[in-house]
Amino acid sequence: MACYCQSGIRYSDCCEAFILGKETPQSPEQLMRSRYSAYAQHLFSYIVSTMTGEALMAFDVHEAKKWAETAQWMGLNIESSHTEKDEGFVTFIASYQRKGHMSYLKERSRFVKGNGRWLYISGEYFSGVF
Ligand SMILES: [Zn+2]
Repeated sequence: MACYCQSGIRYSDCCEAFILGKETPQSPEQLMRSRYSAYAQHLFSYIVSTMTGEALMAFDVHEAKKWAETAQWMGLNIESSHTEKDEGFVTFIASYQRKGHMSYLKERSRFVKGNGRWLYISGEYFSGVF
């Protein structure tokens, strides 16, 4: 099965090991991809475990679950990613279908590395309709 994150490789060779906790993402982009794959499967405990600070405080798992039940993630496009020491940024477009409409979320996510692990800390985003 192709990975949800549209890397072009199999799920078992891509995000699965991160989501199962067998491996740790080595870059903000790997973490971002694995978070998308977890969203696609409604695996919210993984989503929560990959956040810190502002992002974690703002996250409402109940709301996220409710939203997820009405939407389906359709694809991921990484526009850019760069990393400097313990901070990284990934800009992506994630598209989804909800109530019969195709929409997208564009975000520039910020990641920080602590104790050897990358975590999602904040994002600037906007959404739109195709
Ligand atoms: Zn993947």
